[in-house]
Amino acid sequence: MKIDGFKKATHQINKIRYRPVLVAKIGRGYFRSLVLKKPCLRVCEFSVTPDCQSKCQFCYASKFYKKGEQLLSLEEIESTWIQAKAMGAFCANVLGGEPLLHPQFLDIIRVLEPKKHLITFATNCIGLTEDIVKELKKLGVFLINISLNSLNPELNDELRGYKGHYDHVMRAVELCKKYKIDISFPVATSKPLLKETYEIVQYAKEIGASVVVNLMCAMGRTEGETELLFDQAFWSEYRKLVDSNSHLRADFDVNLTLKIGCPAGFEKIHFSPYGEVTGCSMNPVSFGNVRETPLEEIVDKMRNFYHFAKRSPHCLVAIDDQYISDYMNYAANFDSIPYRVEENECYQRDRYRWSAPE
Ligand code: SF4
Repeated sequence: MKIDGFKKATHQINKIRYRPVLVAKIGRGYFRSLVLKKPCLRVCEFSVTPDCQSKCQFCYASKFYKKGEQLLSLEEIESTWIQAKAMGAFCANVLGGEPLLHPQFLDIIRVLEPKKHLITFATNCIGLTEDIVKELKKLGVFLINISLNSLNPELNDELRGYKGHYDHVMRAVELCKKYKIDISFPVATSKPLLKETYEIVQYAKEIGASVVVNLMCAMGRTEGETELLFDQAFWSEYRKLVDSNSHLRADFDVNLTLKIGCPAGFEKIHFSPYGEVTGCSMNPVSFGNVRETPLEEIVDKMRNFYHFAKRSPHCLVAIDDQYISDYMNYAANFDSIPYRVEENECYQRDRYRWSAPE
């Protein structure tokens, strides 16, 4: 791993050093991964609601809604988090849809215990009020992920499908500064939007924010549009951008193993609003539901899945041609995702084609 990658993995050290419980949990994670050479769960994504006010052109979550199903309750989220913590997790990211639309949003943040863990959430900022920011600060949240796609207000609003989104973002930036909460911009990028991404990276540098670059994947509203989103030239450009900016992170750069690679199923898992467990929020393939099966059993199944076990050196859902053609494109057969892995016949081959992680 490059020095730059190590800097990315430890960039929050200033914030966490006064949180001894968290430091101990992170230390245990590195010990388990580097010394014992055992996989250790690091981060859980909780998509708590499929509802959203925006209609983003590239939304991967537009098919999350499942008619007639109940969202995971607060108690179910809490018991899932307890199971995840027992497997090493110390970081959680609350997502949607728009998580602020969940009627118990602040209770969800509370049960994740932000003073003992790295708890954050991604928001379109439309419903982010000063009172909520104050309450989050009190609860111990020190970083908010603010969705932004262009510094051009008209283009940003068009991409987000919401007039006035850019203004909401700028108000949220001011609120975060006022209450000394760190800002990270999760930027969904692709070939046509690389210029916008560069500009946001520069802007973030100027205001002391960080950037998490997510590659758009051909899922939800961009289902089947792989060619339009990426190619090899784009990937090289993108890697150069990530490598040369230490305030810019991608989730495959901050592994406990200190190796660059897709963390899905090993260090990272995602829960759909109804409890289905996938490798990450952009992956439409479920390995089980926490309402039916203990989390440890589900994660074990994920770690025996060829595409996760190979620890792809790049983003599986956006770059890996085989995975995209076998598993991502298959999602088009369903009105609602994630779909269960057993429903895809490729799984019969891939569950046995196991390869040990390094
Ligand atoms: S496929 Fe892997 S690298 Fe890509 S977003 Fe998901 S977890 Fe991250």
